[in-house]
This record gives sequence, C-alpha cells and structure tokens, in this order.
Amino acid sequence: MLKVSLTHDVDRTEKTYQFFTHALRALQKGDMRSAGYHMGSWKRRKQVYWNFEDIMEIEDRFGARSTFFFLLESYPFNLFKPKSWKLSLGRYDIHEKRIAEIIQQLDATGWEIGLHGSWASYNSLELLKQEKKILEAIVGHPIKGIRQHYLNWNENTWHLQKQAGFQYDTTWGFTRKTGYRDNKVKPFAPFNDHFTVFPMAIMDSCYMNTPDKRGELRKLIQVTRDNDAILVINWHSNNYNEKDFPGYRKAYIEIIEACKAEDARFGKLEEFYEEMMEERKSDKALRR
Ligand SMILES: [Zn+2]
Repeated sequence: MLKVSLTHDVDRTEKTYQFFTHALRALQKGDMRSAGYHMGSWKRRKQVYWNFEDIMEIEDRFGARSTFFFLLESYPFNLFKPKSWKLSLGRYDIHEKRIAEIIQQLDATGWEIGLHGSWASYNSLELLKQEKKILEAIVGHPIKGIRQHYLNWNENTWHLQKQAGFQYDTTWGFTRKTGYRDNKVKPFAPFNDHFTVFPMAIMDSCYMNTPDKRGELRKLIQVTRDNDAILVINWHSNNYNEKDFPGYRKAYIEIIEACKAEDARFGKLEEFYEEMMEERKSDKALRR
C-alpha cells in the first residue's frame, strides 16, 4: 500500500512586487508578451495567487484531503536588506476577512490547517507559540503540525516546536532537489516520544526542475512503498496559475493520478500521525 500526503505551503495569497520582478525578468529575455502579462496582471492581483477553490476541487475529484500550512510572517521590512523584501513585501494578514474565512472553510470541510512557521521562528520559541496561538484562535482548536518557511531549520528547531506544543513537523527535506534527505524515508521520532517528523520528498519547484519527472516520481513511489513510509508532497498554493507558473498545476494533477494508479491511499498528515500513535499504543500493550 502506498501512503501519500498532499500538503500546501501558503507563502502568499496576492501578487505584489512580482508584477515588476517577473516583468523585468521577461524583458531581459526579450519576451514582451510575458512582460505585458505580468504588468497587466496587477488588475487581478487578488486572484492570480488565490487558488484555494481550485485546489479543493482538484482534490475533491480524487477523494483526497490535504494539509495547508498558513504563514504569519512578521519579518520587518528594511529597504537596505534585500532579503527582507521577499519576506516582508509579499506577506498576507491571516486576519484579513477573506483569508480567515478560507482557513475556516478548509477546516470545516475536512482539510487540515497547519502552521507555516515564519522565517525567524525556527529559532524562536516565542514566535512559534505566538503564531500557533493566533492560528488556533481562527480555527478554534489546537494545531498539530508545522513546516518552517524556506525549510529554515537548525538542530534546535524540533525541540522548540515540541515545546511550543506541536505534535509533528514536516520541514525535513531538500530545498533544491527531490528525494529523501539523509535517506530518512520513514517518519521518525527525534526524541523517542510522540513528536514525529514526516520527511518531505517532493516540493513543486524542485520537481519541476527535475529532467526526468516521471522517472523520479516512479523511483520515489517505489522507495516510499518499500519502506512503508508516507510520500509527502508540497505544492505551494500560489503556484497553480498557468501563466505565472507554467506546468505546475498540470504536474500536480499528474502526480495524484500516478499515485492513484498505484492504488495510493491519500491521508492528511494529522491522520497518519494519529494512526501511528494508535499503533504505538497497541504495540506497547502487546509487549506488556
Ligand atoms: Zn514558505
């Protein structure tokens, strides 16, 4: 049996400075048409990165539910620190009505809501706690899972996440390629307790840059099944617009279809987590 978990990092919900940066990039390539599109898309800035309904419809078609990790970025804007532009300018406010409402709608219709820990939170118990609390106030119940933004992580991060009350993390993975980092395929418990890490094997941009996508997917399906692990896939929610991210939406559907053809069972991470806890409990009972 192949187990698959579909997940989405919600990095941005609205196109902002990308009108200019993407148009500039197109101009440099001499692609006037694309440059024109990007400049003109500001009129639909609220829609181009907003794909929640589309994603729900796709997953509904396959009888799947996924996990959405929402971000509460608080990194301060600094004109002289270009790194801050990306983090700070594209941010969204989860208290904004339409965002709070889609979070509640997803939660109420069977999707899982997790936290996409802000850039600096990998090293801050304070931020982890604060962001978790705010998101929990919106859904009205505890949040179990987290993935750090930019997969920002150090040796202390799991410890802090656990202290902040998270049950699982799914940050473990490569930022520039697909596959299982350090050959850690199965979910693991870094502290030999309930806190679980679900390795992430496929991230959209990495997958799209793989020369032999189908071959890579086949290989990952195989190794996941052989290890009785869970194939965790991360497709950013803003990457479904064909003009802005050519091929991404189609590839996402193809991956689901390929997994379906392998008789996959799609589960949310919280479901697999609960199952693992149940199994562990019965293992212990048997050993007694
Ligand atoms: Zn992110």
